[in-house]
Amino acid sequence: MVIVMRPDSSPEDVKRVEQKLRARGLQVFLSNGNGKTVLGVAGDTKSVDVRDYQLLPGVSEVVRISVPFKLASRAFQPESTVIRVKNAVIGGGEVALMAGPCTVESESQTMDAAEKVAAAGAKVLRGGAFKPRSSPYSFQGLGEEGLRILKEAGDRHGLAVISEVMDVSQISMMLPYVDIFQVGARNMQNFTLLRELGRTRTPVLVKRGLAATIEEWLMSAEYVMSGGNHEVMLCERGIRTFETYTRNTLDISAIPVVHKLSHLPVIVDPSHAIGIRAKVPPLAMAAVAAGADGLLIEVHPDPERALCDGAQSLFPEQFAELVSKLRIIAPAIGRTIPPARATP
Ligand code: PEP
Ligand code: MN
Repeated sequence: MVIVMRPDSSPEDVKRVEQKLRARGLQVFLSNGNGKTVLGVAGDTKSVDVRDYQLLPGVSEVVRISVPFKLASRAFQPESTVIRVKNAVIGGGEVALMAGPCTVESESQTMDAAEKVAAAGAKVLRGGAFKPRSSPYSFQGLGEEGLRILKEAGDRHGLAVISEVMDVSQISMMLPYVDIFQVGARNMQNFTLLRELGRTRTPVLVKRGLAATIEEWLMSAEYVMSGGNHEVMLCERGIRTFETYTRNTLDISAIPVVHKLSHLPVIVDPSHAIGIRAKVPPLAMAAVAAGADGLLIEVHPDPERALCDGAQSLFPEQFAELVSKLRIIAPAIGRTIPPARATP
């Protein structure tokens, strides 16, 4: 349920409504955008008589929301969420480029990747330090040492950093290193992890689960937000279908669908969606044309020797060429790709 206050309502009017709701044991979340106060109400709202609130002073309208996600819904917050991390603006008019290797393998590999993606225009450096590998015998990541390298590379090239958190026990250790927590597809419904991330104030990127519906995905965002952390972005990374030529199937329709349902930014990861290097650029271009707020792309200085996901990682030159094409596509839909900063 959402209660929209009139523009001329007083702070006392808002307080009165809030107190009445809380007295019923309901949770209340306030949002102030475009001079309008909106109260988002969560909890057992079914038994609430809407008329009890419609008649209170200062109330403009009471709207029942039929979707189970509240804080993530556009009904609660009509204006799009904009998240700022270092030089990246995610969810505004810019298309945020996040790029880097699947995994941090060494200092030289990560420094090299950071330098090249920054020169092409990326604003966020990706790199896993804890890897959710299908086999326990595959390379599992460098752990904290990997995060230290990632942060150093990010700092040197003016890039924010994003890395996957796989478990609640890693959160506090990771906090000093990362600017954005990545929740992987396999962990999208790890509700304990989502709740704990909601207690931090570090932005969270929630990847769509391998077989998750859009509603389930938005409920995962809701878990983080219900803890008080509203800096959440969603990442479409392909879903499992019957198709076997590609690693997954990129659900491009999720971009406009989520934009209608939610105010949260939508990032697209074409690398894990398709799994084939040569096909990453066409998907990335399609995603930007469809309105994606950002891209998360695997780029490796030497993909043939990568310890993880080399076959889908772009060569740095391919990434630079892709960005130059995106600079033509983005303005066609009223978006921009900010220029790369001069290299330090
Ligand atoms: C990744 O981005 O490194 C990753 C493991 O992706 P996903 O969770 O989408 O499989
Ligand atoms: Mn990968």
